Amino acid sequence: MTAQALLKDVFGFDDFRPGQAEIVDAVAQGDNVLAIMPTGGGKSLCFQLPALIRQGVTVVISPLIALMRDQVRALQEVGVTAGALTSGNTPEETDQVWQALEDGRLKLLYMAPERLATGSTIGMLRRIGVSLIAVDEAHCVSQWGHDFRPDYLRIGELRRALDVPLAAFTATADAETRVEIVQKLFDGGEPRSFLRGFDRPNLHLAFAAKNQPRQQILQFAAARKGQSGIVYCGTRAKTEGLARALREAGHPAIHYHGGMEAEDRRIAETRFQREDGLIVVATVAFGMGVDKPDVRWVAHADLPKSIEAYYQEIGRAGRDGAPAETLTLFGPEDIKLRRSQIDEGLAPPERRMADHARLNALLGLAEALECRRINLLAYFGENPSACNHCDLCDTPADTFDGTTAVRKALSAILRTEEWFGAGHLIDILLGNETDKIRARGHASLPTFGVGTEYDRRQWQAVFRQMMGHDLIRPDPERHGALRMTDRALPILRDQDTITLRRDTIRSAKRGPVVKALVTEEDAPLLSALKAKRRALAEAAKLPAYMVFNDKTLIEMAEQRPLTLDQMAGITGVGAKKLQTYGDAFLSVITGASEPMHPTRMKLAGQDAGAIYDRLIEIQSQLSRGSEGTDKPLSCSASQLSKVAKLRNADERALEHVLGDKRTERFGAAFLDVLREAG
Ligand code: ADP
Ligand code: ZN
Repeated sequence: MTAQALLKDVFGFDDFRPGQAEIVDAVAQGDNVLAIMPTGGGKSLCFQLPALIRQGVTVVISPLIALMRDQVRALQEVGVTAGALTSGNTPEETDQVWQALEDGRLKLLYMAPERLATGSTIGMLRRIGVSLIAVDEAHCVSQWGHDFRPDYLRIGELRRALDVPLAAFTATADAETRVEIVQKLFDGGEPRSFLRGFDRPNLHLAFAAKNQPRQQILQFAAARKGQSGIVYCGTRAKTEGLARALREAGHPAIHYHGGMEAEDRRIAETRFQREDGLIVVATVAFGMGVDKPDVRWVAHADLPKSIEAYYQEIGRAGRDGAPAETLTLFGPEDIKLRRSQIDEGLAPPERRMADHARLNALLGLAEALECRRINLLAYFGENPSACNHCDLCDTPADTFDGTTAVRKALSAILRTEEWFGAGHLIDILLGNETDKIRARGHASLPTFGVGTEYDRRQWQAVFRQMMGHDLIRPDPERHGALRMTDRALPILRDQDTITLRRDTIRSAKRGPVVKALVTEEDAPLLSALKAKRRALAEAAKLPAYMVFNDKTLIEMAEQRPLTLDQMAGITGVGAKKLQTYGDAFLSVITGASEPMHPTRMKLAGQDAGAIYDRLIEIQSQLSRGSEGTDKPLSCSASQLSKVAKLRNADERALEHVLGDKRTERFGAAFLDVLREAG
């Protein structure tokens, strides 16, 4: 079978995601490959499909046992013979793997890098006819990164010993890491490299200045009740407090940080992976072990440490491709903390410079005045057009010419010889005669009281943005006193101007508007499908997403397939899953639109009842379009009932009830029915 046919038949996907097809081809034909794809881009498929195409066994080296086990189960669910040899196996599992190997059935063998340290492993792999090595999370070979795994260095040796092609995958993009991967895994021989675009169009991006941050997070979560999410915090203590607050607000929530016992961490990871709708409040220690495709949102209660960290962390949302949302909070304290962490770290000076630059890139994104996505992707060397899917595209920033304000602030800093923090400087600008002002004699400065056009909160926003634009930096040797940087000189000298944004202090009182994944019409069906999924998952002891992921259920709710054939057309429904689960979900859907639906009952004995039945008939004839080749589509019972009751209907009236997609498919035929009856 071709890759395309396997994609549909085994995994149930109609199309490759951008970049996948080329990588699959290259790996399948035996090229050495390095593929860099964003988290959620669909890396696993890029070695799983070639493994099915190629003769022999593909060895997959992957850093975490829990992830391996989940991938193996997911493969088994779609009917692929895969196994893992890990220390977490039961004796039966290990026996099964050996049996499958002996029978020549095993296609993918997952293995932790530590295994390679055992002398007998390479000999064993040689005997079983390995034809491809796939390396997941290949950046673990990099000594610079914090995910470094010494045993990854043995992979080069494995490749030499087996002399088979190797395909390496990672989401880490920076050039240093790439060079290291090529050195360590390919002995410096250039693999074919694929760098896939960094955009994640299904992620909504948003930043907000901190203003009662706990409330901000609680509100964000409340609007997404019942959906799985991650909240990243800067400190361990905060994870526990915020998780408690979320629980008190009625959310299922747990905390996670590096100070927990290994066993407790493992339990938290497993729960998150398996449970539907759980929230984890975590430090950045929570990451690599997470491979849950249906995380619907990620919030940062504190500013991440760099633009790369930000990108990776938000990237854990929405891997299944369905809509997901992000919110990152930041304030002056975050900026101070991140700067001092860099300054006080042990890295060599050039590394520290680079780290400040990465932080600056993130701050630039936080204080951006237009489209976040343009800003973010510019960092990765891409230049898209405005995305219409970020807070600044939703609501343009309210800006003002901040040149004079910035100059006044700089003047206050310089006249006090760069020895003070924002609080005292704002007192000077506002002309407040505090004890400290009196003690230092600062009331006699020419800058004293020159900034009364703004209040304290507005000045705080100005100082924060000045830090964000790297015009001023806290100096750790002066207890965080603010000092001017060279970047501020042109503004000070009247050679440059600067635009700032007015902080929109949104009222914290507005009740949460619950964000739905589908239209109001389709929501009840989606809930019913989710309930069915939960029941099946519990019975099979699987994480819910392994039955079907959110994207698949959303498509079912919107398209309402009425037969198994139509069901097979839904993304994520492959041959094996169609057989296992098709009927169960079909009955949920037809239950929602069958003729004697309660909605139809209400029309019984009326003209509208007969019309309704005609509409149902027409709908099933046209459900795949007039040629029978389009994606299946159908209407809900209440939509049909509304149509049946229309008088003197025209296309506009239909569109009002059905929306444009359904009107396009059924409109003309429905109007005929109504006219005949009328
Ligand atoms: P990564 O490892 O790159 O973060 P995964 O391999 O875990 O991403 O894939 C993320 C999700 O995307 C999985 O749920 C997978 O089933 C889904 N997926 C992968 N390829 C496709 C595709 N071509 N069409 C639809 N969904 C896909
Ligand atoms: Zn945008």
